[in-house]
Amino acid sequence: MENEEQKSGYTGKLFLIVGPSGSGKGTVIERIKGKYSGFVYPVSYTTREMREGEEDGESYHYILKEEFEKMIKEDEFLEYAVVHSDNYYGTSKKDIMQPLERGAVVIREVDIQGFNSIRNLVSKENLVSIFMKVSDMEDLKGRILRRGKISDEELDNRLDSAKKEMAQAGDCNYQVENKWGEIEDCVANVERIILAEIKKMY
Ligand code: 5GP
Repeated sequence: MENEEQKSGYTGKLFLIVGPSGSGKGTVIERIKGKYSGFVYPVSYTTREMREGEEDGESYHYILKEEFEKMIKEDEFLEYAVVHSDNYYGTSKKDIMQPLERGAVVIREVDIQGFNSIRNLVSKENLVSIFMKVSDMEDLKGRILRRGKISDEELDNRLDSAKKEMAQAGDCNYQVENKWGEIEDCVANVERIILAEIKKMY
């Protein structure tokens, strides 16, 4: 279901980076951000705990469950989801829609639920989805474990979600493989897609 009003009024482009936890979405966005400061990189909200090396307001806005639920009630999210069966994650409506309205390039990572919500809210011409594939599950497991200490249950949850997410890779506009040790190739591929899509805007 597309919103005709949005279709005619928005000139920017939203790039959604989709793919399982550990597929390298964050790294790819960090690299692009380092090179292209003119794009908009909205910071999502989450109720999960901050990991070592993360910063409030940089990686996420870390808020309490009660605060998140208040934002839901006040209709502040474009989309939100419970990810890996425990924590809320959500993108702020105004942080995404305002830049799109003024013609900006917006880049955000979301899980597959976020993608499924947003594809029904933002018209096709304003949305580009890029799925980051990891073909080797052992490789993915290693990556998730290297990111910090998590319980066996959380690891199982993440691997379970990964399998479900992979099944939807074909729903995205583009698919990019992120092979272990080849992050540079992956970043270059995502960058190529973004630049080619920006060209179509003019
Ligand atoms: P992490 O806890 O590893 O930072 O993120 C867990 C998962 O939540 C990742 O797949 C990440 O892409 C996803 N995620 C991050 N921000 C959002 C968001 O605003 N909305 C949704 N739906 N998922 C998000």
